Amino acid sequence: MSDGGFAATHDVLLVGGGGAGLRAAIAIAETDPRLDVAVVSKVYPMRSHTVSAEGGAAGVIAEGDSLDEHAYDTVSGSDWLGDQDAIEAFVEEAPRELLQLEHWGCPWSRQPDGHVAVRAFGGMKRMRTWFAADKTGFHMLHALFQTSLKYDRLTRYDEGFVTRLLVDDGRVHGVVAVELTTGKIHSIGAKAVILCTGGCGKVFPFTTNANINTGDGMALAYRAGAPLKDMEFVQYHPTGLPFTGILITEAARAEGGWLLNGDGYRYLQDYDLGTPSPTPVLRSMELGPRDRLSQAFVHEVEKGRTSHSPYGPIVHLDLRHLGEKLIEAKLPFVRELCLKYERIDPVHELIPVRPVVHYMMGGVHTDLHGATPVAGLYAAGETACVSINGANRLGSNSLPECLVFGARAGRAAATYATGARPAPSSVHAQAADEVRRLERELLGHRAGTERVSRIRDEMQATMEESAGIYRAAPAMKKGVDTLAELQQRMAGVGVADTSRSFNTELVAALELANMLDVAECILRSGLEREESRGAHQRTDFPARDDERFLVHQLVHRGPDGSPRVGTVPVTITRWPPGERVYGR
Ligand SMILES: Cc1cc2nc3c(=O)[nH]c(=O)nc-3n(C[C@H](O)[C@H](O)[C@H](O)COP(=O)(O)OP(=O)(O)OC[C@H]3O[C@@H](n4cnc5c(N)ncnc54)[C@H](O)[C@@H]3O)c2cc1C
Repeated sequence: MSDGGFAATHDVLLVGGGGAGLRAAIAIAETDPRLDVAVVSKVYPMRSHTVSAEGGAAGVIAEGDSLDEHAYDTVSGSDWLGDQDAIEAFVEEAPRELLQLEHWGCPWSRQPDGHVAVRAFGGMKRMRTWFAADKTGFHMLHALFQTSLKYDRLTRYDEGFVTRLLVDDGRVHGVVAVELTTGKIHSIGAKAVILCTGGCGKVFPFTTNANINTGDGMALAYRAGAPLKDMEFVQYHPTGLPFTGILITEAARAEGGWLLNGDGYRYLQDYDLGTPSPTPVLRSMELGPRDRLSQAFVHEVEKGRTSHSPYGPIVHLDLRHLGEKLIEAKLPFVRELCLKYERIDPVHELIPVRPVVHYMMGGVHTDLHGATPVAGLYAAGETACVSINGANRLGSNSLPECLVFGARAGRAAATYATGARPAPSSVHAQAADEVRRLERELLGHRAGTERVSRIRDEMQATMEESAGIYRAAPAMKKGVDTLAELQQRMAGVGVADTSRSFNTELVAALELANMLDVAECILRSGLEREESRGAHQRTDFPARDDERFLVHQLVHRGPDGSPRVGTVPVTITRWPPGERVYGR
């Protein structure tokens, strides 16, 4: 395909086959069955990170709960940075989406009387998290995948890696992708493209995220002229296994698990998160929001009250008092993970845990329908920033976000594609350029002076040092300089592996280039935000500053390739900024 001509053309093309991507694909097929839809995914869709979600998906269904309460919890959880019109749409549509998923085959756990069971989750005032034991993501993705199979006009390009968006005259016209099984490079035309590429946890060294979560969609959008929003907000989850970073779901605390420091003391009572209770109290102690819990861990380290491990300081999660029967019924996967990866049985032993990078609140700037400022380009799921999560996401809001905004983006892209004009011929030249770049720079088999693994290690260490749970200008500035150097060194990277089939070295190089761009945006945006809000805690600016920073930050790629930070207002509908209070 070196002339850049399209190997195929579709009405709407999805980059990503996880929860958001498959939900969007189904929405397009349902909006207009005549539309030709394609899903390109760098892994087989069932291997997308959605599959590993454990705890559940929030949606108002229980008696006594209300949409307003879900909205308020999300607004306050976001430290008032979430857009309230987006949050209102989200809470209203989430229960419908979850019910729809049941009709597609998702086996939600039940109460003995047959009603859908819900569990508590961090930062939520009511029990509203639907779950399928502690394998929610697996069941959700399975239901979506099976449903997607019934549409004749849906083509899948499994194991296709998208390297570039084709944009001309402010409109998207398709993508260039490497077929990983053969190494062939294709350009694929599309009237509309939806980015559903998930998160970017791999920018950091210690994360719950899968190896594939390298922020590709964010980098693709950024290079194509679509800005990234609120990139400084990176969520640490308080309970990862110390060596692997494997997540121990918040559901473990929702079912009554306790966090204990080195003295065996439930330390969260010292952090304005409520007083100890034998059973979990909503929005209190172990069920406080993730940002506060991860920050409390750092303070315990400073006070010397944590335990030592080969991987640094840890605390313990205690599930012993829950008993084997409950653990087997509600948390079987937690037990399985502990037995397999730590050789610990949580029925009898304490689980060692430490905070771990988990989720990206920021992402591609979109409106309420997933549209970016580039015509025909949409984004949904973790790669997008609508924004409902603001400065801190509440656990179990992400899966329903993928459904609600995946469906919205799908419907909007379907409508756009119906009226879109054909691609101009200049796009083919652009595609041919990209093919040549890939052949020359990466598949040219230069040994290169730089190794991907070295630059990646240095980038990850830099991010941990400069953009961790607590941040300050000197380390962030140093981080910005290091990343600029790494960007330069990236030009010297060569792919020594000459194989065309599953060339993992090539994939690693492409992913690293994406991660470097994303990392730069996180740090530049973080430096500009001179306040502490949610997951962005500055030791040099410890207070929230609504006067200057009740705004979203947008990062554009400047003409010289470096990030330029601007702002847009936050939408406030019904909940004026207030104090975030938990445990009372
Ligand atoms: C361990 C874990 C547990 C979690 N538990 C919960 C939970 O209980 N509740 C909750 O609400 N949230 C949870 N989350 C968060 C939530 O699961 C994710 O935010 C969500 O599943 C992301 O879905 P997505 O569709 O946006 O992306 P993903 O599921 O990550 O899918 C991304 C897709 O993009 C494709 N892709 C990426 N780059 C490219 C490229 N360059 N070319 C082609 N394809 C590409 C991939 O192949 C994949 O198909 C959890 C996250 C983790 C890591």
